[in-house]
Parts: sequence; structure tokens; C-alpha cells
Amino acid sequence: MRIDIATLFPEMLENYLSESIIGRSRAKNIFTACCHNIRDYTEDKHRRVDDTPYSERQGMLMQAQPIYKCWQAVCNMTKSQPYVIYMSPQGKTLTQQKCRELSMLDNIFILCGHYEGVDNRIIEKIVDEEISIGDYVLTGGELPALVLVDSVVRMLEGTLSSQQGYTDESHFNGLLEYPQYTRPEVWEGMSVPKVLLSGHHANIKKWRHENSLITTKQKRPELLEKYPLTEQDIIILNNFSEADGDI
Ligand code: SAM
Repeated sequence: MRIDIATLFPEMLENYLSESIIGRSRAKNIFTACCHNIRDYTEDKHRRVDDTPYSERQGMLMQAQPIYKCWQAVCNMTKSQPYVIYMSPQGKTLTQQKCRELSMLDNIFILCGHYEGVDNRIIEKIVDEEISIGDYVLTGGELPALVLVDSVVRMLEGTLSSQQGYTDESHFNGLLEYPQYTRPEVWEGMSVPKVLLSGHHANIKKWRHENSLITTKQKRPELLEKYPLTEQDIIILNNFSEADGDI
């Protein structure tokens, strides 16, 4: 997968994309990420990339021309038309399902806005989809772009040591993950649930599913409305008493 990111602050992205799991995935060429400085594409002799909005609002707006030239350069370089995403608080909120869909594409181009955002004409001209990372406003699209890249790249084969790394996690199948524990068996008088120490795979699998259901009910009950509950799941949820904190 090739990911091109258009930004005024490429260094902000480069550091993150070179570290840890994502950095290793990039080094193994599981994905390619190219960060383009939009300022390199301006035709303004003072290298300006922004101007005041016609709406008389305060602040600066990124101009369409340098972004368009940057996109054209990427299309020429890759001899393709990447799927163009504008990170924007006005877009649909990013979900695990969306990350999965995007992880199946070969080429994506991510536009990071800054200041008051971008001239709307660039959205009309090149953007396929606006994506938000939540209903709040940040100063720029760089953090949202990293959120998107991280969540997409970890689904590419070879990024995590096994597919189970993400298929077992929260949101993949519509539930939250069950509670997790590691050594020691007892910490501060709190014990790991006995079944997890039993080595009995079928019982551990059953415990994981039951505790995913319960965790979801406790933390994000609205997710259960979309989850295809079996009769057995409904019994488990009905038997669960918040007061006990257990089934
Ligand atoms: N004036 C814009 C509005 O009200 O919709 C907000 C502009 S914001 C200050 C600057 C840039 O940050 C945006 O162009 C976008 O790229 C990015 N951004 C801010 N919040 C975001 C969010 N929740 N999700 C994705 N991108 C966001």
C-alpha cells in the first residue's frame, strides 16, 4: 500500500511514521509513506500557501492551488489516481470498519488542513471522502492523519505478528475486548480469574466471549444494539449483575 500525505508540517508526521510497530512495518515495505510539503508546490514568490477568508472570518485559509499541484505531482509520480481523503471535523467519524475498507486500497492521498482549513474548491475538485476523528476541532490534520494511517496500517498483513492481533481486539467484531491480565498472578491482593490459569482452551475461549459481552455492556452498551446477540448471549447479559461485577 502507498500512502501520500500532503501537509505543511511533514516533520510532525515523519517522526511518528518511523517509530515502533508502524516504523517497522514501513521499514519492511509493507506500506510506503511519502510526506509532501505543500509549501513546495506554491507558485507564490514569497512561498505563501494561505490567505484571508472571503467570509470576513478571522484567521487564514489554505489556498487551493498549492494543494492541487501537490496532488497532481503525486498522480504523475505514481501514474495513478489515489483515493483522496481530507481529514476534517466535518467528515464521517472514523470507525474500525472504515479502516478495514481503506486497508484494502492500493493508494491513498491524505490532505491535512491547518489554520481555518482549506478553500472549499479543493474539496470539490479532488477529495473523495472527508474523515473526522471525532466531534472536536484540532489545530491541524496531522494528528488525525496519523490516527488514520496507524489504524489502517496495523491491519495490513505483516504489520502485526498475527492477524489475531487485531481480529480479537475491541471493535473488530462489534464488541469490546475482554479484560486482560499478565504476571504476577496476584498483585496488591487482586487475583487473575482462575479460568485463565487453567490451561483449558475451550473454557478460556468461552470466558473471553462472555467477558467481551459484559465489558461492552458496562462501557459501551449502545454497541450491543448492532451486535447479533445469540440466545445464549442474552442469557449471559441478563445474568450479569453490575453489583457483583461478575457473571
Ligand atoms: N474551520 C474548520 C471547521 O470549522 O470545520 C476547522 C479547521 S481546523 C482548525 C484545521 C484543520 O484541522 C482542518 O482543516 C482539518 O484538516 C484538521 N482537523 C481538525 N479537527 C479535526 C477532526 N476532528 N478530524 C479530522 N481533522 C481535523
